[in-house]
This record gives sequence, structure tokens and C-alpha cells, in this order.
Amino acid sequence: MLAESKKIAVVTGASSGIGAATATALHAAGFELILGARRLDRLKEVGEPLGATYRVLDVTDADSVEQFCSEIQNVQLLINNAGGALGMDTIAQAKDDDWERMYDTNVLGLMRMTRALLPKLEASGAGHIVNVGSVAGRDPYPGGAGYNAVKFAVKAITQVMRLELVGKPIRITEVAPGLVETEFSEVRFSGDRERASKVYAGMQPLLAEDVADCIQWVVTRAPHVNIDEIVVKPLAQASATVVARKL
Ligand code: NAP
Repeated sequence: MLAESKKIAVVTGASSGIGAATATALHAAGFELILGARRLDRLKEVGEPLGATYRVLDVTDADSVEQFCSEIQNVQLLINNAGGALGMDTIAQAKDDDWERMYDTNVLGLMRMTRALLPKLEASGAGHIVNVGSVAGRDPYPGGAGYNAVKFAVKAITQVMRLELVGKPIRITEVAPGLVETEFSEVRFSGDRERASKVYAGMQPLLAEDVADCIQWVVTRAPHVNIDEIVVKPLAQASATVVARKL
């Protein structure tokens, strides 16, 4: 008897943090991996030990998305993870460039990847899209408006996907984490490590592996089971702004 062929998962933003940990968790669950991000050296570090295919992908660049997706023949699982926040300015101080880049990455990037791979996900007969949202997409906070807006958008887009695709063999899930210690805050604060470390001071944040564990769980349920959303926070975090810190 022929061995059942492995399912193929595409992970965007797999060069660090949640994307990298998700690649490892999906590999452990038996998926073959196609990984994308802009930093090829970092993708290589993640992908090579997992026997993954990895290629440069910039989700803000339509040509890059088209090139990346055109080389994919079969795919069962798309993890739309590439994203992040830029700055923490109030609306009075908001920078157009930060807001445009956040929208381009978190919202348009997710749309571009989904639009490109939807026909192949449907043709697989058992497709699944997991969008990485955020507690920021549920819980606004001062200085968060630009990032809140894009993650509220991810939540809305995920719900629309579910409505538009019901009846087709494509599961749709949003995984929305709270505080996770990754490169997220360093990117947000333009490489300022001291400021980034304060985000997690005096509390135990989630690890990227904790979120990857949730993603692995939702994608390994029986094919007729759709987990619509998971919100996962550290024990010490009750909302975007209410965090118990021992300082
Ligand atoms: P991270 O370590 O900074 O990872 C972000 C990933 O996105 C990197 O692999 C980065 O790779 C990739 N990326 C950024 N821009 C990209 C682009 N234009 N094209 C392709 N890839 C791009 O942060 P993370 O915490 O793992 O973030 C992953 C996701 O989780 C994001 O959507 C973030 O909004 C969400 N999230 C994070 C937290 C948290 O507290 N950390 C909480 C809730 C939700 P390159 O730079 O190599 O392109």
C-alpha cells in the first residue's frame, strides 16, 4: 500500500517568533513545509533542520507574493502569520508611514496570500487557513490605534472568509494571542531593546511555542471540526492593558 502523502503547509513570517515556532510544531505534526519571509538567512536557520522549502517572500509586494505562490502546486494549510506593529504613537502623533506599512503587511498581505492560494486550498479537498490575529484586535488601548485597526481588520476578514467559504472544504480559524515575547516589540520600537523588554517586565509572557501549540491543535482536529477562534493570553494578562506585574 502507498503511504498517504504528507499535507503541505505554507507559513508566512516564518523567520522568527510565532511563525518559526509554528513551522517546528507543524513539522512535528507531520506537515511538509513551505516557509516565507524577507530575511533568507533567518529562514534558512528555521527551515533547514525541518527539511522545509523556504523562499523570500514580502507580503507587501504583489510580485513577490505571485512569484512565491506560483511555485506552489499543492497546499492544504495556509498560516497567515506575517505581521506586526510599528510605533505606539497616539492618534495626535500618528505617522502615515507606520500606519500604511502596518496595513500593507497585516491586512493587504493576508489578503494577497489568501487570494493567491484559495484555488489550490479548495482543490486539495481539505484546506485550512489560520490567520494570526491578536488581543489588540479585540481590545483597543491608548497608543494602539494603528495596530488595533489592522488586527480588528484581521478578525473581520476571518469572519468574512468563514461566511464566503461555508460549504467549501476550507476551514477558517483565527488565533489571537496576547503578550508573546518574540521580536515583535523590538520591531515595534525600531530596535530599542530596552523599551521592548519593558513590555514583558515583571510578568511571564507567552512563548512563541505556546501559540504554535494552539495552531497545531486547531489544524489537527477532525476534518469536520472548525475552530473559529482561539484567544490565548498569559495567565498574568487579563486584557490589553490589565497586566499583573511583580516589579
Ligand atoms: P516577530 O518575531 O517580529 O515575527 C514577525 C514575522 O513576520 C517575521 O518572521 C517577519 O519576517 C515577518 N514579516 C514581517 N513583515 C513581513 C513582510 N512584509 N513579508 C513577509 N514576512 C514579514 O513577531 P511575532 O510575535 O512572531 O509576530 C507574528 C504575528 O503574531 C504577527 O502577525 C503579530 O502581529 C502577531 N501577534 C504577536 C503578538 C506578540 O505579542 N508577539 C501578539 C499577538 C499577535 P521578516 O522580517 O524576515 O520578513
